[in-house]
Amino acid sequence: MDYRLTEEQQALKKEFEDFFREEMKNAPMDYSIHGPSEARYGTKEGFEFHCYMKKKLAAKGWLTMAWPKEYGGQDAPIIHQLLFNEAHGYYNGAGDDAFGVKMFGPTIILYGSDEQKKRLLPPIARGEVQYCQGWSEPNAGSDLASLKTTAIKNGDHYIVNGQKTWTTGAHFADHMFLLARTDPSQKRNKGLSVFNIRMDTPGIEVRPIHYLNGRHTYNEVYFTDVKVPEYERIGPENEGWKLTRATMNFERSGVAGFAASRRAFEKLFYYARTTRRGGKLLIDNPLIREKIAKLYVDLERGRALAYKTAWLQEKGKLNFSPAAASEGKVFGSELGQRIASAGTEILGLYGQVERSRWAPMNGTWPDRYQNCLGSNIAGGSSEVQRNIIAWVGVELPRV
Ligand SMILES: Cc1cc2nc3c(=O)[nH]c(=O)nc-3n(C[C@H](O)[C@H](O)[C@H](O)COP(=O)(O)OP(=O)(O)OC[C@H]3O[C@@H](n4cnc5c(N)ncnc54)[C@H](O)[C@@H]3O)c2cc1C
Repeated sequence: MDYRLTEEQQALKKEFEDFFREEMKNAPMDYSIHGPSEARYGTKEGFEFHCYMKKKLAAKGWLTMAWPKEYGGQDAPIIHQLLFNEAHGYYNGAGDDAFGVKMFGPTIILYGSDEQKKRLLPPIARGEVQYCQGWSEPNAGSDLASLKTTAIKNGDHYIVNGQKTWTTGAHFADHMFLLARTDPSQKRNKGLSVFNIRMDTPGIEVRPIHYLNGRHTYNEVYFTDVKVPEYERIGPENEGWKLTRATMNFERSGVAGFAASRRAFEKLFYYARTTRRGGKLLIDNPLIREKIAKLYVDLERGRALAYKTAWLQEKGKLNFSPAAASEGKVFGSELGQRIASAGTEILGLYGQVERSRWAPMNGTWPDRYQNCLGSNIAGGSSEVQRNIIAWVGVELPRV
């Protein structure tokens, strides 16, 4: 494979980087301290800035550049999306819409009716609506097919009862894409359907889940006799699992996470090169040098993996493989954890200080350390990704 970018690609990369570097200077402080979900959904100011950026990206045609032209996209080549995601991830850019643009929109494009495409896609493409993802339940995460929330048909609508959990950003969202059981007599992945639900529908209650760092980013969502019109069901009744599998594959991508990790690494590297402990620069300590070198190699491996997958996809040599997405997800999220862990060791006891003049690197590291486990679980845990790689990627037998 050829890793070199064409002149056009280099110019585009620069345009994306210049844009995010400048725009993110206006971002609330949270964007310099917290990861993307925490910065966007952790405070009202963070969410408002995210909405402002969504509209800016839409105006530039970048928000839905991956969508087909007929639905307001640009049919952008995969490499262009990769360059956008990389710049966006590096600057912890706001506005990129994981739920509406990257997950639910493409699902509607594949499975929605013409009426649903006309009604639901344009507000997503203009950056006017915020979605959340209503899949996981207290007893249905990795084993999503065992979910219990029901949507029972009653004339021209459905009545929804049950509970979702870990719903990122539900407290700010105005819509949810919900997976619910429309035929309780059927088991597991049979008898499920997908719905577009307005979060202001009577009977929906959103309760906060406070994370390890005390912030409110995630939620429980309770449904009590919630009335959902039949026209909000996406795709055929009881065939929601097929749609959800497609949505899952839109969810996992790699390069933005590697770029975000690279920026954290660069700050840590700078700290080690400029900070003395016991009269010596930290970087001159062989144990620290080795940690830094290993992380650097892993970051380059991660970037190469993401570029290679995109390059193969663009050349048409790799139809989408869930194993390739899982590889990027598991390597990227675990690398984030290794960086958080190495940084915590390198910063030493002061690394635990958050709001004080004694806090190194503006007190950002405790949050990174507390948050990094979540990304190994969100979007499918590392163990589950490894199963997919084993079964689909290298065709090992299922035990
Ligand atoms: C930060 C965060 C944000 C999230 N945001 C959302 C959201 O917006 N919307 C949403 O619907 N969900 C969301 N989730 C939920 C997420 O999808 C689930 O937490 C995840 O799928 C794991 O499910 P679980 O928590 O029920 O754990 P479980 O499935 O109970 O897993 C427990 C442990 O068992 C392991 N395990 C399970 N099955 C297997 C297996 N077959 N083989 C080997 N090991 C296995 C898992 O790896 C894990 O270590 C979020 C989660 C987190 C942490």
